[in-house]
Amino acid sequence: MKKENNIIIIGGGAAGFFAAIASAEKNLGNNIIILEKGDGVLSKVKISGGGRCNVTNSCTDPRELVKYYPRGGKELLSPFYKFNPGDTIEWFERQGVKLKTEPDGRIFSASNDSQTIVDCLVDSAISNNIKVLTQSRVTNIQKTSSGNWNITSSGKEFQATSVIICSGSSNSIWKIINNLGHKIEFPIPSLFTFNIKDNRIEGISGISVPDSEVRIEGTKLKSTGPLLITHWGMSGPAILKISAWGARELYARDYKFRILINWLPGTSTESVKEQINQVKINNISSNIYSFSPFALPIRLWQRLLEHTGINKDVKWNNLSGSLLNNLAMQLAESSFNVNGKSTFKEEFVTCGGVCLNEIDFKSMESKLHKGLFFAGEVLNIDALTGGFNFQAAWTTGWIAGNMI
Ligand SMILES: Cc1cc2nc3c(=O)[nH]c(=O)nc-3n(C[C@H](O)[C@H](O)[C@H](O)COP(=O)(O)OP(=O)(O)OC[C@H]3O[C@@H](n4cnc5c(N)ncnc54)[C@H](O)[C@@H]3O)c2cc1C
Repeated sequence: MKKENNIIIIGGGAAGFFAAIASAEKNLGNNIIILEKGDGVLSKVKISGGGRCNVTNSCTDPRELVKYYPRGGKELLSPFYKFNPGDTIEWFERQGVKLKTEPDGRIFSASNDSQTIVDCLVDSAISNNIKVLTQSRVTNIQKTSSGNWNITSSGKEFQATSVIICSGSSNSIWKIINNLGHKIEFPIPSLFTFNIKDNRIEGISGISVPDSEVRIEGTKLKSTGPLLITHWGMSGPAILKISAWGARELYARDYKFRILINWLPGTSTESVKEQINQVKINNISSNIYSFSPFALPIRLWQRLLEHTGINKDVKWNNLSGSLLNNLAMQLAESSFNVNGKSTFKEEFVTCGGVCLNEIDFKSMESKLHKGLFFAGEVLNIDALTGGFNFQAAWTTGWIAGNMI
């Protein structure tokens, strides 16, 4: 007779659904229950990617993929050999969901609507006989003397042979997990934008610089990429990346620090000076304000000129040596004071969670307790933007569901 195997999954998000479906596909006939505290399920999938859900990314090489994870990259290398974006794409397409890849590698549902992904996961759960209980907040997880699990949820008791915790970033569950002996890395935000008040960027929000290099003074933190000027400061890939890699260091500084921006990445101050000199020779009688000789939006160029002390009437041939030096500094090493952070609404994640060295990444099982598994953001794993956070949820959920 087939052994009865009750599986309880805590959390009806991306990782929880994927874990449930994976184990249902593997162990047909088992009793699989998802306990979700909310009124509905997959709420983050629904709001993700600005309502479009950036499901995954076109990067499928595990060694490249792990470079997008400030926390968890090392541990995810071997799981990505088992289930990576290529498998995610295949899985969704097998369920009839058409996906599309954008030029930057992000992958969305072709419908441009996250509801397609929600419906796909819910339908798959229904067809696999997975029970989904909403308004079922788990308040206690206890190991029984026989090695099984007792779960308390909204006044009810559930017995399980295996439990997969997929509760995302949730302080109350981390407390329960901590009581089971697991260490929790203190949770703090990742993927945020910088608050900056500075004349150079005031009134020009919406301007996007195609490429920039951002460094944080007094640290080794550095990133490159597009930068967006917002009405509260700066955002865009270069800022989000550095916020993720520096999540702990920037938290320790209470989000008050100084950044240095090279608006012409890869070019030294000396080389910028030479380039300006060349522009000067070629445009003697032109007004400096009339065009930007670099790949910089004209309004930003003009703000940098103002800040350098070059007024509107100056022509290239009047640019003195000291003003030229100041302008080169402004282009290659613009310094800005950051005072606080703001949430990036498209996607934000938590840095912190269950300590990774207590998890066996071959199975996602706890090294402390047999039958206890983890998947998704409850773990100390987080990624840059681009579909990598969901990929971590799909991969760890799939492995946990398969290895029960
Ligand atoms: C606005 C926004 C947009 C995003 N967009 C993207 C994107 O486009 N692409 C991308 O890759 N990532 C994106 N992310 C990140 C991504 O949503 C998360 O990494 C992902 O949802 C993590 O999945 P999860 O299943 O681990 O956790 P969650 O999705 O958070 O699911 C956890 C579930 O557990 C439930 N739960 C918690 N505690 C309990 C309890 N005690 N009892 C029962 N249930 C409980 C919660 O209610 C929740 O439903 C976005 C995040 C945000 C906030």
